[in-house]
Amino acid sequence: MKIIMLGAPGAGKGTQAKQISAKYSIPHISTGDIFRANIKNGTELGKKAKTYMDQGALVPDELTCDLVMDRIQQDDCKNGFVLDGFPRTIPQAEALDEALKKVNQSMDYAIDVDVPDENIVKRMGGRRACLSCGATYHIQFNPTKVEGVCDACGSKTVLRDDDKPETVKKRLTVYHDQTQPLINFYDNKGILKTVDGTQDLNKVFEDIVAILGE
Ligand code: ADP
Ligand code: AMP
Repeated sequence: MKIIMLGAPGAGKGTQAKQISAKYSIPHISTGDIFRANIKNGTELGKKAKTYMDQGALVPDELTCDLVMDRIQQDDCKNGFVLDGFPRTIPQAEALDEALKKVNQSMDYAIDVDVPDENIVKRMGGRRACLSCGATYHIQFNPTKVEGVCDACGSKTVLRDDDKPETVKKRLTVYHDQTQPLINFYDNKGILKTVDGTQDLNKVFEDIVAILGE
């Protein structure tokens, strides 16, 4: 099963992708997590990506596409994968299509987690991320057991630099300009499914399972 998570920054793509990954035993591939791991490890890619991410801009397609194409060719992706945060532009979606076409494959589902901008700004201020293992929490809607400590790995959780309100507004503008057109792109391919992302996160997952099957 090959799935794309669509939706604005903060819509809940990562939260749902992690649950999909666990239930259907397919890897969760988050380009944001890959970039943040590179930043943490001080790689050249990380240094380049950081300049864009800190401004709420997209990392250029040249730096993003090859990375994902390499990742989806790895052995653990044989039975499928769930992409979170990729594609984010039409050229990225076309590159993905091309790469899959070469091996006679195509994406199965593009799930749009639909949340209006007003809710997003509120959510992002409360998001806390673990930069060690990529886990994501919310101080109100999905808190850690011990405040500020990741349940999964025990590292500190932080407010991401790009989750500060000014940057969130910029990211939303970028989303509407560059990423939202993907909703039509996948609708035209007949694989778009929409879920109401304003619901409780367990209910959102139930709706996704109803689409993907038990
Ligand atoms: P994305 O991956 O789309 O950027 P996340 O999955 O990180 O978004 O979710 C953004 C924030 O909102 C996180 O703090 C997360 O815990 C919280 N969140 C996710 N889904 C819901 C939901 N259905 N209701 C309330 N908060 C949610
Ligand atoms: P995310 O963790 O998905 O919210 O992504 C955080 C940031 O990483 C984004 O605001 C972008 O700067 C960058 N990023 C992640 N995925 C992509 C992508 N597919 N294309 C371009 N930039 C990306």
